[in-house]
Amino acid sequence: MSTAEAARISGLATHDVLRFDGNTPPQPPAYANEATIADALAEIQRYPHGGFPVLLDAIAEYAGVDPERIVLGAGADDLLLLCGRAFAGPGDVVRVLDEPAYPVFRLAAWLAGADVGEEDPVLTYCCRPHNPTGALGPLPEVRPLVVDEAYFEFAGETAAGEQGVIAVRTFSKAFGLAAARVGYAVADRDVAQELVVRQDPLPITTLSAALALAALRAGPPDVSETISERERLASRLRGLGLQPLESHANFVYVPMEEAQPTYERLLRLGLVVRPLEGAIRITVHAPGANDRLLDALEQANR
Ligand code: PMP
Repeated sequence: MSTAEAARISGLATHDVLRFDGNTPPQPPAYANEATIADALAEIQRYPHGGFPVLLDAIAEYAGVDPERIVLGAGADDLLLLCGRAFAGPGDVVRVLDEPAYPVFRLAAWLAGADVGEEDPVLTYCCRPHNPTGALGPLPEVRPLVVDEAYFEFAGETAAGEQGVIAVRTFSKAFGLAAARVGYAVADRDVAQELVVRQDPLPITTLSAALALAALRAGPPDVSETISERERLASRLRGLGLQPLESHANFVYVPMEEAQPTYERLLRLGLVVRPLEGAIRITVHAPGANDRLLDALEQANR
């Protein structure tokens, strides 16, 4: 659903539509400006020969591993798909834990020509913290294991560096750079090299690399406000008689029988949540935006 379409349905201007469905922060980071990309623009006619070694070093330092263990991608999605085609092929089985989970895991298996199942998997995907529930379960013991850590910064727990694990992370969530499309995987050295030879030689743009580097240079993202706002949102939802699940990410999963009608009613008010089977998922927005959503839910409860 595009914001333009949500504006049409609600009769609001596009800038009055509030998105609670993308699990991204409400505002861009301060370093997302022209000064940050000026050097990249000044050389935009050239290929980034030699790749992005400065960014790889900065990511490696952030993740606490050697740069040879980092694989860059155009968002976490790109790396999830890369893992599928690197490990699996026609006739293979790929396992997806804790379903329903992030839909790109199944897509990765499908694009690799593999089946999703439980028997003898060549690769297993899990999501930690889990999307859509926000749960932080124990790290599964199976290997090789792709751990989607898109929301890692909100939970603080990681499997990056563990043997047999490919931890997939992103600049789209806590760093607020979703449109720049930068993600990375942390894998064993040999696995990382195997992934690199199976991917696009230049998977991200110099503009995106400059933004990601600026993000890391600004220091670890501060997620404390999002977390306290998440808890305020959850507590207000409980006050409305709803039962949001405990979340370790920047969204809350709210079980409800009337998920689809609730989604549609909110959409007509320009409030876009994610409808799921028997639940809605709500991204933690700015306090004023969250209040607009809570008021709309309260009205519906009356
Ligand atoms: N994994 C999970 C669990 C996600 O929720 C998302 C974003 N919706 C992604 C991966 C994709 O992230 P990216 O923007 O880095 O492709």
